[in-house]
Amino acid sequence: MALFSESLTKLIEEFEKLPGIGHKNAQRLAFYILDGTKEQAKELADAITTARNNLKFCTVCQNISDKDVCDICDNSSRDHSTICVVQDPRDVAAMERSREFKGVYHVLHGAISPLNGIGPDDIKMRELVLRITDDVKEVIIATNPNIEGEATAMYISRLIKPFGVKVTRIAHGIPVGGDLEYTDEVTLARALQGRREF
Ligand code: ZN
Repeated sequence: MALFSESLTKLIEEFEKLPGIGHKNAQRLAFYILDGTKEQAKELADAITTARNNLKFCTVCQNISDKDVCDICDNSSRDHSTICVVQDPRDVAAMERSREFKGVYHVLHGAISPLNGIGPDDIKMRELVLRITDDVKEVIIATNPNIEGEATAMYISRLIKPFGVKVTRIAHGIPVGGDLEYTDEVTLARALQGRREF
């Protein structure tokens, strides 16, 4: 005999699929939803559907955006001659929190990882190369300091240097094997200041 009704079991199962949510937490969340009003449940469901349906990438930097061109790319007071390359949209948020960077970004949505069968064509590498014009003076590579991040940084460096653009890599105040996303603002700001040229 099932412990819960079919629809409740289904809800628990869906929560359980989320990262970091075990069975107990899934149950807790499901009962939290059932304890709330129907309106609250609808707001949550709508927020999920709307966010997913509206998901699109900025046509310039590939960051997640509700608009064709994101607010950062659209901001004329930012330095469009300096592009900071990151792996993940969350890294843009981390860099922005550091308040150290006044340029624009490029989001790769991943890193090169031969072991996992991920090559340059599987991430937004082509889009990056297409952005390298005479107006670009520096490309700062801020991929994660792990094997994939380093491999990606090397690849970008080799690809872009022939264009005569300065290519730098942020300094490693960031712990090796660490995630940019979880690096505190001060460390990230220092890492940016201490970047070195390839
Ligand atoms: Zn953008």
